[in-house]
Amino acid sequence: MQPIIPTPDHNRRQPYSIARSQAHFQRALKRLPLGVSSNFRYWGDDKTIYVKRGKGAYVWDIDDNRYIDYRLGYGPAILGHCHDAVDAAAHKAQQIGTIYALGTERELAVAELIHQMVPAAELVRFSNSGTEAVMGALRLARGVTGKSHYVTFEGSYHGLFDAAMWYADIAGMENEIDDPKIVAYGKGIPDLVRQLFWQVPYNNAERLERVLKKHSDSIAAVLIEPILGNCCGIPAKPEFLKAVREMCDRYNVLMIIDEVKTGFRVAKGGAQELYGVTADICTMAKAMANGYSIAAIGGREEIMRHFGNGVAHGGTYTAQAMSLAAAERTLTILKDTDALADVASYGTAMQQGISKILTGRSIAHSFAGHPSMGGLFLKEKAPNNYRDWKTSNYTFYDTLAGHLIARGVMCEPDSREPWFISAAHDQACLDETLSTFEEAVDITVKEVHGRYIRRLRSDQSPTAE
Ligand code: PMP
Repeated sequence: MQPIIPTPDHNRRQPYSIARSQAHFQRALKRLPLGVSSNFRYWGDDKTIYVKRGKGAYVWDIDDNRYIDYRLGYGPAILGHCHDAVDAAAHKAQQIGTIYALGTERELAVAELIHQMVPAAELVRFSNSGTEAVMGALRLARGVTGKSHYVTFEGSYHGLFDAAMWYADIAGMENEIDDPKIVAYGKGIPDLVRQLFWQVPYNNAERLERVLKKHSDSIAAVLIEPILGNCCGIPAKPEFLKAVREMCDRYNVLMIIDEVKTGFRVAKGGAQELYGVTADICTMAKAMANGYSIAAIGGREEIMRHFGNGVAHGGTYTAQAMSLAAAERTLTILKDTDALADVASYGTAMQQGISKILTGRSIAHSFAGHPSMGGLFLKEKAPNNYRDWKTSNYTFYDTLAGHLIARGVMCEPDSREPWFISAAHDQACLDETLSTFEEAVDITVKEVHGRYIRRLRSDQSPTAE
């Protein structure tokens, strides 16, 4: 664990202001759509903030507000921001150049590390992002099987490419019996793509089997997140993941386990180690290089050998030297230390603390997922699939998240994102998080209750009659 140095500009007790971020947002809007470089970084005209720097478990915005960071860039900073040893390795690599359109010796060293930690990755190919890795994995599955179709699950996320940009519209569901409509994330995604996949409820082996039984002749792969890292961290039930494995074998369909979020986070060998299930092809990214952009596709040798032998894969920036050096250092630390065990125990301790606070106020709650990337769910029973998530009290969560952020605890405002823990989160972070949480919950209760009473009164007012 990196020691956290208390910083002089720790100012969370001063009134919260994001004036500088707001002014920057207005300037940025003139040159950048929504003022940002990803739709998800826009939090609203009056809420979007810009980062100045990060260190360890902390991040500072350009107004010098300091936050304990539970977003970690959607997961990558597993060792904490600006990790000295990882950054030093990356900088050293930079000095000898970053890109030559040729291979380097380090690619093999990192592939060996990945294989040691994730045995399913008998062979490895590198990509730049999770999206790219999943695209490559799907192309590989199609190339190997000669089939075009695939299966995904409601509530999953596999990146921003046409094949994966479809979601189950549970908000528009008219009843609990019919399946939700599957809709595109937005414009620009051809309807034709919809004809290539089935999307089935998570943790429901029977529904998957129904599709495979009927259509396996045209299905190349089942693409699955072992933990729904973009939906509250809902975990696959062990028996479900094993059933998916067994059905893929029985129906001659490849199993792609998308470990972009879970890889090198929930265990040294990712979810595959945790569940004892082996993919035909797996994808890994985020925690692999502590924030440098690199991803990997791993898989069975006879499948992976199709790369370069019929299946195309490459790219100017693949296995870029800085990211590769960062990956080597990060993976070595994760493999040789107890960093991931520390991450998990912090997550468990945080959940216990949060639970005590909520229980003390009779607020129903539960946690989904692995403690290193757990989701807070404001209902007694944790969700089992995306449809369950709909039943949570997200008005309460949304209000609470706003108060937490304004008090220096940077959780994800979207209740579907889990809280990510890094090895740099320490006891001081935990104490501060819990005391802030307590304060934020009390304010939220008053506010949400106040809104409810006001609504009740206006409903009963004479003008409303
Ligand atoms: N797969 C999963 C499971 C993910 O969580 C993500 C990103 N959140 C992706 C793929 C896409 O990764 P990227 O954002 O690096 O393209």
